[in-house]
Amino acid sequence: MTNLKCKLLIIGAGPGGYVCAIRAGQLGIDTVIVEKEKPGGTCLNVGCIPSKAIIHAADDFHKMTLAANGETEIGIKVQKPVLNFAKTISWKDGIVERLNSGVSSLLKKSKIRSIKGHAHFLDGKKIEVVTTNGTQTIEAEHIVIATGSKPVELPFLPFGNNVCSSTELLSLKDIPKKLVIVGGGYIGLELGTAFAKLGSKVTVVEAAERILPQYDAELTKPIMARLAKLGVQVILKTKAQKTDSANGSLIVENENSETTVLTADKILVTVGRAPVIEGFSLERLAVDMAGPFIKIDDKCQTSMTGLYAIGDVAGEPMLAHRAMAQGEMLAEIIAGENRDWDKQCIPEICFTDPEIVTVGLSAEEANKEGVQTKVGVFPFQANGRAMTTEREDGFVRIVARADNHIVLGVQAVGENVSEMAATFALAIEMSCRLEDIAGTIHAHPSRSEALQEASLKALGHALHI
Ligand code: FAD
Ligand code: NAD
Repeated sequence: MTNLKCKLLIIGAGPGGYVCAIRAGQLGIDTVIVEKEKPGGTCLNVGCIPSKAIIHAADDFHKMTLAANGETEIGIKVQKPVLNFAKTISWKDGIVERLNSGVSSLLKKSKIRSIKGHAHFLDGKKIEVVTTNGTQTIEAEHIVIATGSKPVELPFLPFGNNVCSSTELLSLKDIPKKLVIVGGGYIGLELGTAFAKLGSKVTVVEAAERILPQYDAELTKPIMARLAKLGVQVILKTKAQKTDSANGSLIVENENSETTVLTADKILVTVGRAPVIEGFSLERLAVDMAGPFIKIDDKCQTSMTGLYAIGDVAGEPMLAHRAMAQGEMLAEIIAGENRDWDKQCIPEICFTDPEIVTVGLSAEEANKEGVQTKVGVFPFQANGRAMTTEREDGFVRIVARADNHIVLGVQAVGENVSEMAATFALAIEMSCRLEDIAGTIHAHPSRSEALQEASLKALGHALHI
C-alpha cells in the first residue's frame, strides 16, 4: 500500500471533477483526481457528446432519405442512402476517444496527478483507491465528491436482455427495427427522434399527460408535430408494467388500468437519472442529504467542513455546464477567493427536433413570484433565415419585468436554437432591458433576429409581424 498527501482530492473526472481539477492546477493547488473509468465522465463517454453525434448522423441520413424519396421542395434528388451503422458508431467512438485524451492532456498540462481506480472514504480526510497496481491511500485537506449520476432502473424492468439504458443504446451495432422507449423526457425524446430518423419504428410511453412535462405546452407542441411526421407513436398517461420474457414485448398500463402489449426489439428505459451516492462509503461520514442528493450550500460545501460536492450528485438540474461552473467556482474558493453561486440562470437545451431552449423564468414563474411581466413572442414563420433552411416551425419568446423591462427569461423552440442559448443567458446575466436587445443590430438573415423582434413585440412595435 502506498500513501499520498495533497491539498485537494477530487473523486470523479466528469465535467464537474475535471474542470475543478484544471482550474485548481492553474491556481497552483496541489491536486489529485481519482477516476474509476475514463476521463470525461457520463457527459463525454456515454452522454452529451455521443448522443449529439448520433443525433447529427441521424439528421443527415434523414435529410438524404427525404431527398431520395422526392419529399423535399428544394430540388435535390439523390440515390437512396445506405447506412453503415457500425461505422457511424466507430466514428462516434473516435470523437469520444479524442476528447478523452484531450481531457487527460489538459489535466497533465495543469500538473494534476490522475489516478485510475475506485475511491472510497476511510474518513473525512482520507480515501483509499483500489487500482490495478494495488491499493493507495490519499490524505487531503479538501475533498470534492463529483461522482455524478446513473440511469434509474425500474425494479420491474431491470436492464438486461432487450431492456437497456442510453449507455447501451449509444453503442448498438444495428438499428433495432422496433424501439420502445419508456419515459418521454430528455433522453427518450432526443434518442427516440434520432433512431426514428435512422429507420427504427419508435414508440414512446410517457406517464405524464405531456411529453417533456418540465416544459410548457407551447414549447412542446412543435416537437409533438415533428414526432407525428416521423411516425413516432407517443402514448401518454401510460406506465410500463413488465416485459413478456417469452418474446421481449412490453406490457403497459394506462390511467384507466387498461393494458396494451407493445412488441419490441429493444426497450430503452429513460425515466430519469439518480445521483451516485453509494459504493464509496459515504455513509461513514453521515453528511446531510437533500432528498437523494448530497446537500450543499452556495459554496458547494457539504455539512462537513472541507468536504464538497458538485455536479449531478449535488442536485438539479443535472447538466454538464452546471457541473463545470460549480467545479470552476469551487477551485477558486479552495484557492482562497471569495466566490459563491451567484448565477442568474442555467440554460437548458433539449436537443429534440426542433430543439428547445429555456433560460431564466417563464411568465408563469415570474407571476407566481408576484412580478408583473411583459411578454413578446416572434414566430420563425416570419423569419427569412428560417424560410431559407426549410424549417419555419417554432418561435422565440421573451419575458421581462413590466415595470423596468429587465429581461427575466427567454424560451425558444426551433431548428438550431441551441446556438442562441448563450445569447439568451448573457442577456439575463447582464440584466439587459428589452430596449437593449431591441437596440442591438442583429445580423440579417439569421434566426437570432427573432430575439430582437420578440423584444420589439414586447415593447409593442415589432417590425416584421
Ligand atoms: P459524471 O459525468 O457522471 O461523472 C462522474 C464520474 O465519477 C464518472 O466518470 C464516474 O466513473 C466517476 N466515479 C463515480 N464514483 C467513483 C468512485 N467511487 N471512484 C472513482 N470514480 C468515481 N447534459 C447536458 O448539459 N447537455 C446534454 O446534452 C446532455 N446530454 C446527455 C445525454 C445522455 C444520454 C446522458 C446520460 C446525460 C446527458 N447530460 C447532458 C447530462 C450530463 O452528462 C451530466 O449532467 C454530467 O455528466 C454530470 O457531470 P458530473 O461531473 O456531475 O458527473
Ligand atoms: P427526464 O427526467 O428528462 O425524463 C423522464 C421521463 O420519464 C419523465 O417525462 C417522466 O414523466 C417519465 N416517467 C417516469 N417514470 C415513468 C414510467 N414508469 N413510465 C413512463 N414514463 C415514466 O429523464 P431522462 O430522459 O432519463 O434524463 C435524465 C437527466 O439527464 C435529465 O433530467 C437531464 O438532467 C439529463 N439530460 C440532459 C440532456 C440535455 O441537457 N440536453 C439530455 C439528456 C439527459
